[in-house]
Amino acid sequence: MYASLPKTAPIVQKYGGTSVGTGERIKAVAERIARQWRDGYHHLAIVVSAQSGETNRLVDMMRSVNPNASGVAYDMALAAGEQVSVALMSAALEAQGIKALPLLAHQLGIHTDELHAKARIRHIDTDLIERGWKRGAVAVIAGFQGVNSDHEITTLGRGGSDTSAVALAVALKARFCEINTDVDGVFTADPRLVPSARLIESLEYETAFEMASLGSKVLHPRCVELAAKFHMPLIVRNTFTSDSHRRTRIMPQSATGSLEELVVSGVTTDRQIAKLTLTGLRQDSAVISEIFQSLGELGINVDIIVHDKPHADQSLRLGFTIASSDLAAARKVIAELAASKGYDSLNIVAEGGLAKVSAVGVGMRSYAGVAGRTFNALTSQGIVIHMISTSEIKISVVVDEAEATRATQALHREFVGD
Ligand code: ADP
Ligand code: ASP
Ligand code: MG
Repeated sequence: MYASLPKTAPIVQKYGGTSVGTGERIKAVAERIARQWRDGYHHLAIVVSAQSGETNRLVDMMRSVNPNASGVAYDMALAAGEQVSVALMSAALEAQGIKALPLLAHQLGIHTDELHAKARIRHIDTDLIERGWKRGAVAVIAGFQGVNSDHEITTLGRGGSDTSAVALAVALKARFCEINTDVDGVFTADPRLVPSARLIESLEYETAFEMASLGSKVLHPRCVELAAKFHMPLIVRNTFTSDSHRRTRIMPQSATGSLEELVVSGVTTDRQIAKLTLTGLRQDSAVISEIFQSLGELGINVDIIVHDKPHADQSLRLGFTIASSDLAAARKVIAELAASKGYDSLNIVAEGGLAKVSAVGVGMRSYAGVAGRTFNALTSQGIVIHMISTSEIKISVVVDEAEATRATQALHREFVGD
């Protein structure tokens, strides 16, 4: 598998939730790692996620005792899933006769900023890993978690173990970062929604980042961002395949070797969308900037914004989308702001149950007509478009969540083909 790699090169492998989802799977992964160790690759750093479903279970448990739980206790609970996986993987390696060094983020030193549930990694100490390697141990590291300067456990946002792995690959100066998951790589659409989706063999960072940000769950967006920043190639592959050629390589465009860019590389689906519509506001731009500033301070990402300039005698109407998980916090902060500033006429309408479907491709830059084709592909299927937004390399539509799969299939058929 690593034929051209010197045996002393650091190797970072990340295994996701399904890959460690059962005892049998953990044993199978441990066997793979043990084979590599016996082949002479001794500088192994293995990042693991919580077992599939475990983080959701922990979130639900937290919500059952406090629906608005956040902060230190929330992150401490969520990070627990990775702790169990690290211990299980280490024990499974030891059962293979391989020494293991289990490491949680606060033990190793995965230092993050202060923001709970959305922390960003600042620095990773690699000393313990390197010391472990010297005594012949495979380092097994908890993904998703970090520690802040107050010694509190933080988490990186859902799906964040990918980012832990890339940050570690950068810190250890690995030549690439291997993301092992339950599909063969990045496909032209979620293969669970579009059975005819095709594996993308190589992809440049920019498209991979857009796809990840727009909801293709296979990679955490910040992992791609970090990889691009440090020119760290990513290999996305299926944990349980031995075919080393079936995978996606993500790298700078110059290295992908593609001369002709596809108009659309992939279609993504993000089901967790909510829309807030604010009405009754005075035409006072300070109000809008205050609202967006407060949302920003909470780490709430505002996505598609619709803002029509009203006639002189009308009040302002502002619509924007956010992640459903941010809806309660966003409503609260806007209501508090309105109360403290005396915006008595402000009316907030929240709409959940929406999804965003997007077509992504750097080839869109030099291709006109994507919007027309998108409208046609969806309206011909009777799918109602709530909002639409375009950028240089993507077009996104907001539709009812119930229509998300049909909309994804329609755009895939239109731009990628069946
Ligand atoms: P892991 O637990 O290994 O991190 P995830 O569940 O986070 O895995 O991500 C893998 C899943 O992402 C796949 O099972 C697939 O359903 C989904 N997915 C969504 N979009 C894509 C895509 N474009 N290509 C591949 N998988 C995708
Ligand atoms: N366990 C975390 C989650 O479910 C992190 C991850 O799987 O990457 O979001
Ligand atoms: Mg994941």
